[in-house]
Formats: sequence, C-alpha cells, structure tokens
Amino acid sequence: MKLKYFTNTPAQTKKLGRILAEEILKTPPIKKAFVLALEGDLGGGKTTFLQGFAKGLKIKEKILSPTFVLMKKFRIPKSNFQNFYHIDCYRIAKVKEILNLGFQTIISNPKNIIAIEWADRIKKLLPKNISNLRFIFLNKKEREIVLQFKNGK
Ligand code: ADP
Ligand code: MG
Repeated sequence: MKLKYFTNTPAQTKKLGRILAEEILKTPPIKKAFVLALEGDLGGGKTTFLQGFAKGLKIKEKILSPTFVLMKKFRIPKSNFQNFYHIDCYRIAKVKEILNLGFQTIISNPKNIIAIEWADRIKKLLPKNISNLRFIFLNKKEREIVLQFKNGK
C-alpha cells in the first residue's frame, strides 16, 4: 500500500507520525521487529516526523536529531511492543558500525519498533519487506511524504 501526503507545517508532519504510531500499536507484533526505513532530503522532516511518532508511542522523552549518537533506545509504555529504537545513519561510514551495536538481535525481536533515518545507507542489512517512508523537501514549508507499507500487509 502506498500513501502520499503533503504537509505545510512541522506540526502536520508530527501529526502524521503520531497517527502512524497509534496504528502500529494496534497491530499485533509479527515475527520480527517492525521496521520503518526513512529516506529522502536533508531537512525533509524525518526527525520531525519521528517526534510525533514517539508521541504516538506514548514516549515522554524528546526525540533529537542524533548528530553524534547512532542509535537511541526508548521504552514503549503499556503496549505489546517494548522498545523503540531511533537510528540515524547519516554519519555512518561502514555498516559494521551498526552491526557492532547488536543490530541483528534488535531487528529479530518482535517487541521492537525501529525507525531508521538514512536507511538507504545500510540497505544490505535490511529485510526486503519493511515499510518505506520518503521525505521530499518541496520548499521552506512544504514537504511531500510517501509512505509505502509492506510488513506483510
Ligand atoms: P531530517 O531529519 O529529514 O533531516 P528534520 O526533521 O531534522 O529533517 O528537519 C526538518 C526542518 O524543516 C525542521 O527545521 C522543521 O522545523 C522544518 N519544517 C518546515 N516545514 C516542515 C514540514 N512541513 N514538515 C516537517 N518539517 C518542516
Ligand atoms: Mg534527521
């Protein structure tokens, strides 16, 4: 399934993220982690979207643009899902940096939801059937966001 949205403010992009998170929480965990691959322009709104997404997961901490942190783990309260991992591959030089953080174990756990910014940089580590989110910078305020769901649905 492919859905295309246009947003005019960061708040609208956050809301889209929040709604998606609420929908994911309603789905039962599947065989592996629920993975969202976020791609597209710098400043396209990936981190902004994930701030709303984390809110939808009922996470209280703020989601930051992790300039020097590759991966951050958050607890998902009161859900069949347990952990939310925010990964940002913008600065990685080798896929090994991600593997060294235990990526294979994290991605195998059905209780994990994983959002990966710049996922195209670790493409060879990712399963084929994951959801893809593309962020396109149209102008100062407008973004085009294309959501493509696979995850067996
Ligand atoms: P990325 O993580 O894709 O590099 P960010 O979310 O960090 O992008 O940055 C997006 C920037 O664009 C933020 O400064 C945000 O305030 C601004 N912005 C302006 N309009 C929008 C919009 N419609 N959606 C998301 N962000 C927007
Ligand atoms: Mg970002």
